[in-house]
Amino acid sequence: MNQKRVAIIGGGPAGLAAAELLALSGHAVTVYDAMPTFGRKFLLAGKSGLNITHSEDYARFATRFGAASTRLRPVLDAFTPDDIRHWAAGLGTETFVGSSGRVFPTVMKASPLLRAWLRRLENQGVTLRTRHRWIGFAEEGYVFETPDGRSVVQCDAALLALGGASWPRLGSDGSWVPLLSERGVEIDSFRPANCGFVVGWSANFSERFAGEPVKSVTATSEAGTFPGEFVITASGIEGSLVYAHAASLRDRLRSHGSAALALDLAPGRPIERLIRDLQRQDTKSSFSNRLRKGAGLDGVKTALLRELVPDRERTDSERLAGMIKALPIPVLDTRPIGEAISSAGGIRWSGIDQGLMLKALPGTFVAGEMLDWEAPTGGYLLTACLATGRAAARGIEAWLLR
Ligand SMILES: Cc1cc2nc3c(=O)[nH]c(=O)nc-3n(C[C@H](O)[C@H](O)[C@H](O)COP(=O)(O)OP(=O)(O)OC[C@H]3O[C@@H](n4cnc5c(N)ncnc54)[C@H](O)[C@@H]3O)c2cc1C
Repeated sequence: MNQKRVAIIGGGPAGLAAAELLALSGHAVTVYDAMPTFGRKFLLAGKSGLNITHSEDYARFATRFGAASTRLRPVLDAFTPDDIRHWAAGLGTETFVGSSGRVFPTVMKASPLLRAWLRRLENQGVTLRTRHRWIGFAEEGYVFETPDGRSVVQCDAALLALGGASWPRLGSDGSWVPLLSERGVEIDSFRPANCGFVVGWSANFSERFAGEPVKSVTATSEAGTFPGEFVITASGIEGSLVYAHAASLRDRLRSHGSAALALDLAPGRPIERLIRDLQRQDTKSSFSNRLRKGAGLDGVKTALLRELVPDRERTDSERLAGMIKALPIPVLDTRPIGEAISSAGGIRWSGIDQGLMLKALPGTFVAGEMLDWEAPTGGYLLTACLATGRAAARGIEAWLLR
C-alpha cells in the first residue's frame, strides 16, 4: 500500500481516537500536542470518575447534542456507547453502569486507560510528539513552535483536534480560532456549557454556606424538571443539577437579560400538605421552627428561603408553601468559560463536509469539542469526541484514496 503521512494536531480523546484508526490502516501517523503530556483534560475528567458514556436508550442518547444531533447521528451510529465499552475493555478498562445510567470505568479514573491507549498507539507505529504547538499555515505545511524552534510539518492530510475553550490551562485554549477564521472557516463564538452561575448572594449567606451541598431537590428551567443536587459557591451555584440547566439558563440570559432556576425544596411533599402543615404552626414561632416542623426543612434549605423569600411572604402559609415548591434562584451571569466543564460554539457545521473536512481548507479535517455542538454531562461529551475523531479518520482515509 502507498503509505501516506497524516498529522494529528491535538492529543486529546478526539485526536487519539483518530490516530488509532489511521494507524490500523497503515498510514504514517504523528500526533502533536502543545503540552508536555497528552490527554490532560481526559485525565482531569478521570478525577470525578471518568463518565465515559451513557447507557440510556440509544435513540434518546443520540438526541442529546442539541441542534447538532442530526449531523452527529451517523458519526455516533458508527461508534455507539456499547462500542465505547468494548473499546475500553480492549484496553484493559472494564466499565460499569452507575445508578443514574452513566457509564464509568470500574477503577473510576482515566490514567490506566490513557496509559494503555498511548502504549498501544506507539506499538501500532504512531509517533507521539509533545511540546509542539501548532501556530498556523505555511505554503509547505503546518507550522509548529517547538523547544528547538519553529518547524514546518508536511503531510498528505491533517486533523485538527484542538478542543474547545474550557479549562485553558490543560491545553485547549481556543488560540486556533483566529488561525482558522482568517482562512475563511466560520466559527460560532465559544460560550460556557455545563457551567456554574453567578447569584447575588448576601455577604452573610455566601460566607456561611459557600461549599454547602443542596441535596434531594428538583430544579426547573426551560430545559425541564430534574431531580439532583448542586453546591452553593461564594459567588453563586454549580454542580450536576445546575449543569443540567446551564444551556437553557445561559441562552435565556442572552435572549432576555435575566433567568432563574426554580427549586422544589421538598419534592416529596404535595403543596396542599405543605400549606396545611405550615398553617398548623404557631405564628409566633421563629421562621426556622415553622419550616422545620411544618415542612421538614433545615440547614441550607432554610437559609435559601431566608435569603430569597421577602419578609412579608414568610407568614403567609400559602405563599411560603409556593416558594418551597418553586423557589426562584435568579442567576445574573454564567461563571467564566475557563471554569466550565465544556464549551458551546465552535466550527460551524455548514463549513464541514460529511467526512469532517473543512470545506475552506481541503485536506484539513476537524474533530472533538472544536466543532459546534454541546451536550449535558453524562458521558455524552467524551462519546462525541471519540466518535468524531474516528469519523474524521474515516474521512481522511477516503480523502487519501481519492
Ligand atoms: C473538569 C472536567 C471534567 C470532565 N468530565 C467529563 C466526564 O466525566 N465525561 C465526559 O464525557 N466529558 C467530561 N469532560 C469533557 C471532556 O473532557 C472534553 O469534552 C474532551 O476532553 C474534549 O476532547 P477533545 O479531544 O476535543 O479536546 P481536548 O481534550 O481539550 O484535547 C485537545 C488537545 O489539543 C491540544 N492543543 C490545543 N491547542 C493546540 C495547539 N495550538 N497546538 C497543539 N496542540 C494543541 C491541547 O493541549 C489538548 O491536549 C470534562 C471536562 C472537564 C473540564
